Amino acid sequence: MDQNTKDFLKILVEDIHSTTIATLDEEKRPLTRVIDMMLWDEKGVYFLTAKGKAFYQQLMEQKYISLSSIKDKRSISLRGQVENIGNEKLDEIFEKNPYMQGIYPGDTRSALEVFRLFKATGEFFDISDPRNVTRGSIVIGEAQQKKHGYYVGDACIGCQMCASVCPQKCIDISTTPVVIDQNHCLHCGRCAEICPQQTIQKLDK
Ligand code: SF4
Ligand code: SF4
Repeated sequence: MDQNTKDFLKILVEDIHSTTIATLDEEKRPLTRVIDMMLWDEKGVYFLTAKGKAFYQQLMEQKYISLSSIKDKRSISLRGQVENIGNEKLDEIFEKNPYMQGIYPGDTRSALEVFRLFKATGEFFDISDPRNVTRGSIVIGEAQQKKHGYYVGDACIGCQMCASVCPQKCIDISTTPVVIDQNHCLHCGRCAEICPQQTIQKLDK
């Protein structure tokens, strides 16, 4: 796990905390609910749910989630595989998240089981400073992050038209081909649209 991922998971658990998780219902339609992220470590992110809930059944069957969260204009999204780890880490979760003791007092916590998101990719996106939007990628476990975003090809003639329409001014025009700074790109596509060489390519997730 790289340092960026660690930093972003810390923000997810300790700052944002509440997320929206999507699974599929019995008719294979997306279904979301708000779930708190309780812990993180080198092995992934941890959350819990009660065994009686439909969410629990969906996690056990589908073993895959998509998650989104936002606080103070900083968002994190993740998608990937989950595994049930039973009551491992349950006490640690209650210790680090004391409000859980109010919801499930005494031994009623035995209704809960813990899940770990252990193989996932995602993204951090920060628009708290609108003139300096920042993004970063997150990789948990052995997941492969696919290259995505806008990239300038070899046919670039250095005309700088792309830079003139870029809302974040994140295209380095000091070289040819020019270079898009992926950490600040909005993926808006304006540069690709105006490029006379049509050499800016969009790579999808
Ligand atoms: S608009 Fe196209 S050709 Fe012109 S600098 Fe940008 S990428 Fe290069
Ligand atoms: S996609 Fe938008 S934000 Fe990104 S480099 Fe192109 S114009 Fe700028």
